[in-house]
Amino acid sequence: MNIQKLEAWYVKNHRKLSFRESNRPYDIWVSEVMLQQTQVETVLPFFERFMKKYPTVIELADAKEERLQKDVEGLGYYRRFRNMHLAAKMIKDEYDGKFPSTYEEVIKLPGIGKYTAGAIMSIAYQKPYSALDGNVIRVLSRYLGNDKDMRIERNKKELDQINQSYIEQANPNVYTQAMMELGALVCRPKNTKCEICPLNEHCFAYQNDLVDAYPVLSKLNDKKEFHYITLLIHNEHGLFLRKRDEELLKGMYEYPQFESESINTVMDMLEDRGVILDVFYKHDKTYKHVFTHQVWYMDVYEAKLVSGKLKEWVCVDAHQFKQLPMAIAHRKIKK
Ligand code: SF4
Repeated sequence: MNIQKLEAWYVKNHRKLSFRESNRPYDIWVSEVMLQQTQVETVLPFFERFMKKYPTVIELADAKEERLQKDVEGLGYYRRFRNMHLAAKMIKDEYDGKFPSTYEEVIKLPGIGKYTAGAIMSIAYQKPYSALDGNVIRVLSRYLGNDKDMRIERNKKELDQINQSYIEQANPNVYTQAMMELGALVCRPKNTKCEICPLNEHCFAYQNDLVDAYPVLSKLNDKKEFHYITLLIHNEHGLFLRKRDEELLKGMYEYPQFESESINTVMDMLEDRGVILDVFYKHDKTYKHVFTHQVWYMDVYEAKLVSGKLKEWVCVDAHQFKQLPMAIAHRKIKK
């Protein structure tokens, strides 16, 4: 690979993104966590607000969990932020608030895998560690004409070793960012811009007119579907919410909901538990929310609480409702 040409392309053409203006490991870490499964444009305003509020790992470690969840509401995949909070506490306690500087220490932090550790080590510390994400897999599969299934761990590992061999010949900070940027701007899944690509001269896919054939990715299993009856339960003080304890969206608030396709079944079940509702409105549409591995379909009913209450329900007023972290799946339900 012509690494010099790739790096020169990056230096000249990269976007001026706020999180790329810094080489602080803390900034690289926060941005990489936010960028997992989330578009750059979505991350930018969150990153800027987050850095103002939590400028160092100490402020992050000292943050109240619920406050932190509220600050990242809208980014989804909240487990990553719970891990980030745990890692910040660990850095505060075990490293005196200073971000660890060896790969072995970094990869032991909660929520940091091989990719994020590689990104932090190469971008912040200038050490040659491969950071192989979906963008880099696409660029390398096409460039090398690698037709192995990249859903299989063994095949990804092989590609990771190739990426490692390239970064060892490169300026690690520039190389990692150049590969990410090339994948985002030029070697895109669709509308690939091979004519302006610094790698086009030796790219197997381009030279053989096979760009769309790579990367090879076997079909994912279908997502699991859940049908819920979702209840907006009012009383004179406000609305009832429940704090989630499930792994998905743990710690976020939601409207009480029950896996069922029938409001009557839910009312009967609640009655058995001593709760009487007066349902007065059904929302016209079925709300849908797609997660990585599941899809929720939600039929939404508004009701007045006549008597009883489940112990996990909390009543919140309009002010609290705005303050609490709430899953977007429910935040988008309009009362
Ligand atoms: S030439 Fe095209 S397919 Fe090859 S790496 Fe560049 S953008 Fe990707």
